[in-house]
Amino acid sequence: MADINFCTRCGENVSPEALYCPACGTPIEGRVAADGRTAEQVIEDRLAESRVSWILMLLIIYAIPAIVAGLYLIIEKDAVASIMMAEQSFVEFMTQYGMSESQLRTYVGYIGILALVSGLSAAVSGFCVYKRMYWIIAVTACAVASFLCMGSIFGFLIGLMVTWMIITSKPLFKDQQPASQ
Ligand SMILES: [Zn+2]
Repeated sequence: MADINFCTRCGENVSPEALYCPACGTPIEGRVAADGRTAEQVIEDRLAESRVSWILMLLIIYAIPAIVAGLYLIIEKDAVASIMMAEQSFVEFMTQYGMSESQLRTYVGYIGILALVSGLSAAVSGFCVYKRMYWIIAVTACAVASFLCMGSIFGFLIGLMVTWMIITSKPLFKDQQPASQ
């Protein structure tokens, strides 16, 4: 096949080894990468890789504060309850619902455990995504992290979006690829 040295779409000159046009991104017909992938596949793989970077970033941004906050609430639940009870309107709220101070402490600790488990789940999911292994664990752990993030609807929706991104990144996971390679 006669090799062309210009872009069929915009006319830009392209180097002999280029897989796609540097100006408009159109794949150069008939060219393949050293590993046999077509230009379309190379572009697709790069997009998939950048999506994985986004997934990892979102999971890390969530996991670290959730773990820290969870541990803090568990360890300092008495102090946190005292701070909350310093607010007169909160004490009125507690009285209204018949909640005692010890119940409040238990409740704060319980929220801490949920935050910690949620953060750890996000971390487990992030680890699997980073390793490109155990796709089903990555999906499940991310979903668990989302559902335990009850404090905010926003966090819950972001969590579901990241879960969906992991689901659709299935082909990138080593345990989901055909055994032929
Ligand atoms: Zn072009």
